[in-house]
Formats: sequence, C-alpha cells, structure tokens
Amino acid sequence: MDPVTVSSAASAQLFERASAVIPGGVNSPVRAFQSVGGTPRFISKASGYTLTDADGNDYVDLICSWGPMILGHAHPAVVEAVQKAASSGLSFGAPTEAEIELAEEIVGRVEPVEQVRLVNSGTEATMSAVRLARGFTGKTKIIKFAGCYHGHVDALLADAGSGVATLGLPTSPGVTGAQAADTIVLPYNNLDAVADAFATNQGEIACIITEAAAGNMGAVAPAAGFNEGLRRLANAHDALLIMDEVMTGFRVSPSGWYGLEGVAGDLYTFGKVMSGGLPAAAFGGRADVMSRLAPVGPVYQAGTLSGNPVAVAAGLATLRAADQEVYAALDRNAARLGQLIGDSLTAEGVEHVVQFAGNMVSVFFAADPVTDYAAAKASQTWRFPAFFHALLERGVYPPPSAYEAWFVSAAIDDRALGIIEDALPAAAKAAAQATKEGSTT
Ligand SMILES: *Cc1c(COP(=O)(O)O)cnc(C)c1O
Repeated sequence: MDPVTVSSAASAQLFERASAVIPGGVNSPVRAFQSVGGTPRFISKASGYTLTDADGNDYVDLICSWGPMILGHAHPAVVEAVQKAASSGLSFGAPTEAEIELAEEIVGRVEPVEQVRLVNSGTEATMSAVRLARGFTGKTKIIKFAGCYHGHVDALLADAGSGVATLGLPTSPGVTGAQAADTIVLPYNNLDAVADAFATNQGEIACIITEAAAGNMGAVAPAAGFNEGLRRLANAHDALLIMDEVMTGFRVSPSGWYGLEGVAGDLYTFGKVMSGGLPAAAFGGRADVMSRLAPVGPVYQAGTLSGNPVAVAAGLATLRAADQEVYAALDRNAARLGQLIGDSLTAEGVEHVVQFAGNMVSVFFAADPVTDYAAAKASQTWRFPAFFHALLERGVYPPPSAYEAWFVSAAIDDRALGIIEDALPAAAKAAAQATKEGSTT
C-alpha cells in the first residue's frame, strides 16, 4: 500500500516553534523522534483508536498515551465524568468523597493493597514507595533491575528503560554519586544475582523494586518463578517487595499483573490507566506499612494537587467502564496485532521475535526471545526506524522507539486492524532493507 499521510508540514512548523521554547521541542523525551529520526507529529485531537495530527493525518494509535487510554480516546463516559467534576470546582486542597471511591476501587481490585495514597505521577509513586520502604525497614539500599523504568527518580535512573534506553544513557548527569550509591542494579530475570546481592549486603537492603512485568525495555515478561523468587528472597531478608504496576496495573487484567500471576508485593505503584489520561497516580499496599506515612506515621509524603477531583473523576470513570468485555477486547487486539506483525516480518524473512507481557506487545529484531536488558540492547534495533516510519506514513502510530511496548485499546476494531494489516507489508519490507549504517541510531 502506498503512503497515506500527505504532509507533515504543519507538525514540522510547530516542532520548530516548540524547539525554541521547550528543550528538544517536547515535554517528555520519548515523544521526540530522537532515535527514529524525522519530525514528531503534533496531535490536534483524538477519538476512539484515532489520533489526528496538525496536518489532518489520521493514525491508528498504538501508544495510547503510553498506556492509559485502554478505552480509546475521548470515551463518552470519561469525558462526561470529567466535565461534571470540572464544573463543580477544580481543586479544593481538602478531601473529597470521590477520592475514597477511587481508593476503594483500587483496593477492591488488587488484593494485597489494603490502603492507597494518591499522588500526581508514577514517578512520585515510586519515589514515595521507596522512601516508605526505607522508613519502614530502617535500611538504605535498594535493588532495581536493568531495563526497568520507575520514573525519573534520582535513585532509580541507573540503567533505566524507556527514554533512558532510547537515548542510550547509562544514567543521568545531575544524579549524585550518593543518590546512586545505594541502588544495586541487577539483570532482570536473574534470581541468582538477587540472592548474591542479599548475601553481600546483609541487613542493608530495604526493598526490591521491579516492574511486575517489564514493559520499558519492550515487553519482557518475568520468567516463570522470577517474581515468586523475589517474594521469597525479600521475606528471607526482611526487605519489602515493591511491585511497580504503573504500566501493567488495570491494563493487563482488572487487577493488573497481580491478577495474572498472583504473587503479592508489599507495596504497589500505579499510574497511567488508573487516572484515565489525567495526571494522577497512586502507591499502596500493606496497611501496617502504609500507616507509617504522615499524618499517622513519621514518613513524610504530600501533594498540593494529590487526589485532584477532575483526575479522580477520570480515573474512576475509566476503571468503572473497564469491564470484562474491555479486558477481553484488549487481549484479543494484542494477540491479533502480534500475529499481524509476526506474519509480515516472516513473509519478508526478517529475523524477529514478537513478545507479550499480558496484552502489551513488542517486536524485537532478534533470533531468540529477549529476557533481559542486555538482550534487548543486542537486538537489531537499527531496523526499527525504517519499520516505524513506513507504518507512520501509512496511518499507524507505534511508539517511536525500539525499547517500548506497543499498547492497544479496546476501541481497536476490524477496521483499525485492516489499516494495520495493509500498512505492515511495506513496513516489513523497509525493515528487511534497512542497514546498520543507514539507520539514524
Ligand atoms: C510510566 C512509568 C513510570 C513513571 O510514571 P510517570 O507518570 O511517567 O512519572 C513508573 N513506572 C513504570 C513501570 C512506568 O511504566
């Protein structure tokens, strides 16, 4: 099929204007087309599975705002809830009943979560959870895994996934040695490394933080027994297990990755889906741990806009609309998308692995399944820019990075799948013809 997007002139002009006043022209690095080249598309509106850019091009959205939009864009129930909340006042700096309802919805879905506190971003959630784990255990060191991303918290940026991986950064200037020194970075899916770290840091490790299923180095599900092994090791060493479900929470099942696997963390972090596209997130877990938080306990944590009524309304409406049918559609759409990607690459003889972590999908240009960050980095990521742009030109918008999971919404239907199916053969051909030297990465 021939390219369908006619022009990106308006986006190019906006990008130039943006770049003068916003670093790199974007407010979050993954939005820039840094690793794929070209001009980021400026979005003017979205509805259902469709994103429309400033030039009037339509795209089947396979990013879904990096996860949140499981119902598709501008879902009527969510829009109505937001409008209703907004017309009753935007922020009070005092508690509201809707915050209880959202907390009850979360606690009702994820069994190990007994109490929850609302914050404004996933970054705040993980930062607060780690502080709480340290405050609760009285220990300092933390274990994280290479390729996992937990927001841009100083102590958690080392060997992080997502934009840090896309830009090829080992960590970030501005993070001091002291902030990074207490972070032990280990290979994902390697329990021996975790056991060794506990052995050499006896009595010093406050917590393990892990993505319940990794989605920020591409979709890399935990190996059978990995999360269970983390649970066992944390118990054996009086450390807490923090399950970061900011990406997987309320997406891969009604109760997130926990619903698929059943391994309980002590603390959980949520974001993305739970606020339906507005800025809200949460951390929660065991009541005895959560009760160490101020005002009942000494571990301080706060937020002027935390529990914002409009964001809470969007989150509640999203979770209430996300019924079994929605989860069945997400699973079906992810399976179909993965199948289509795989078929097109097979037809062109491109070495690849399509991987799933629940209904998050990834394609790695590699011979073998990717189980950790080293393998993700060793894949032929140089094939990705050509693959990406061929899709984009044909009205399909995947994440502009070889290290990100692709996200489906329940709004994707046969028509959307048809657009994807029509676009893929040319993209697979472009991936086949790509050369290491010719790529922008
Ligand atoms: C997106 C993400 C975060 C950070 O959330 P923000 O709202 O972007 O700060 C943390 N952890 C995981 C697993 C994520 O995917």
